[in-house]
Amino acid sequence: MIDIKSMTLEEMTRFLRDLGEPAFRGKQVFTWLHKGVRSFDEMSNLAKGLREKLKEQCTITVPTVARKQVSKLDGTVKYLWELNDGNCIETVLMQYHHGNTVCISSQVGCRMGCAFCASTIAGKVRDLTPSEMLDQVLFTQLDSGLEISNIVLMGIGEPLDNRENVLRFLQLVNHPDGLNIGMRHISLSTCGVVPGIDYLADLGLQITLSVSLHAPDSETRSKIMPVNRAYDVEELFAACHRYFKKTGRRISFEYAMIDGVNDNDWQADLIAKKLKGMPGHVNMIPLNDVVESPFKPSRRIAAFQKRLESHGITATVRRSLGGDIDASCGQLRRKEMEEKGGCAST
Ligand code: SAH
Repeated sequence: MIDIKSMTLEEMTRFLRDLGEPAFRGKQVFTWLHKGVRSFDEMSNLAKGLREKLKEQCTITVPTVARKQVSKLDGTVKYLWELNDGNCIETVLMQYHHGNTVCISSQVGCRMGCAFCASTIAGKVRDLTPSEMLDQVLFTQLDSGLEISNIVLMGIGEPLDNRENVLRFLQLVNHPDGLNIGMRHISLSTCGVVPGIDYLADLGLQITLSVSLHAPDSETRSKIMPVNRAYDVEELFAACHRYFKKTGRRISFEYAMIDGVNDNDWQADLIAKKLKGMPGHVNMIPLNDVVESPFKPSRRIAAFQKRLESHGITATVRRSLGGDIDASCGQLRRKEMEEKGGCAST
């Protein structure tokens, strides 16, 4: 069966033309799908015969809400979606003054193994399709009734470990006949997959690149982030400099503050040294609680921030949202589905 919602408009037009349809039919179907229809029968301007033909060959991905939690603290909403194949993923909706932001997952699970993150504990099951990423935006908007203006690829999964599908998703969600969300309103976060960063640099998209740095020295970083053994932090910094040179776009560095591990002044000094020649922005994240993790939140956030600023680096502290529903950075996990018992847990 063809996953029709993952097709670009051009592909859809060609596909329908091959079925003997006129050129404008592709756009009709594309528009319906990006409105979030659940079946071909809802496409009321299509002849019944065509709808039947499409049903025979294609599926429309439709996630169902397996659980919805609303934070009492700040109104953040966390969705647990069940996908067509029974797998589950999480999406978080945050309401900021500058607009509504969805944090979407890019994989079912994650294989990157960061020691402080809940998303990776049970490993990776599979990549999400472009349609499944689009659906998280589409159906969050439909269910909440809130218009989504910003997207962050910071949920479960490593986007650059699912590069082709993620890029296709960006194309789809950005399309004027679809949700039409501007690239400038989209952030992609990576744990440091160097070839992926170079690939993005060549594409020159207007998205914001976030890099999960968490330590500027190889020894510390390798201990908490296995990806550092494949792409060392020196290579990572070099890739970031190349990215900035090519795109002129400022990179945002995420830095979860871990007590006694990465919060020493010398590490702030080293960050400054490594970012020289590039307008870096360090986004400090107060470490969120993950039961299985041995790490404790840093007590030096203000001091570290001051130290970075003394070197002329912009350093901000990320406001934690949805803490009471485990919707904060690093707290999303597949375990939810096992607790629920309804979703496949391979
Ligand atoms: N795989 C991508 C996308 C996930 S983004 C990446 O690693 O960038 C989620 C962000 O939350 C990452 O910066 C991640 O390192 C961070 N994070 C993970 N666990 C955390 C925790 N316990 N506390 C604070 N931040 C955490």
